[in-house]
Amino acid sequence: MSETIFDKIISREIPADIVYEDDISLAFKDINPQAPVHFLVIPKKRIATINDIAKEDREVVGHLSWVAAKVAGEMGIAQEGFRTVMNCNEFGGQSVYHIHLHVLGGKLLGWPPYTDKPKNLE
Ligand code: 5GP
Repeated sequence: MSETIFDKIISREIPADIVYEDDISLAFKDINPQAPVHFLVIPKKRIATINDIAKEDREVVGHLSWVAAKVAGEMGIAQEGFRTVMNCNEFGGQSVYHIHLHVLGGKLLGWPPYTDKPKNLE
């Protein structure tokens, strides 16, 4: 798969508000937040979509949820609750083809997620 903007964030070619990093993953604030707290957790390994997760990637992908909860705890939103979302391909609303877990919180989130017409159907 080809390079995305997230590779440039990993390599520090472009800046991001990084909130967590380890050997496996990087977490940074979303540039266009959809909630008071909105950060992304990505693997350093390039995996385009959920469909491309290989059996040997299971630990890496599970790690993303662990990082999500850890950082949410540090940000003080874990007890009230938060949402994680990983969009897949066009119908799932994916725009960056390097898997990422959205972590949204800091307010009561609506469900189902799309009460209005979603942007990709306009
Ligand atoms: P997707 O639509 O693929 O599920 O989510 C991609 C997310 O990446 C979007 O929420 C978008 O705001 C975020 N994003 C795209 N480009 C950048 C960037 O350069 N920096 C940061 N911090 N977030 C980005």
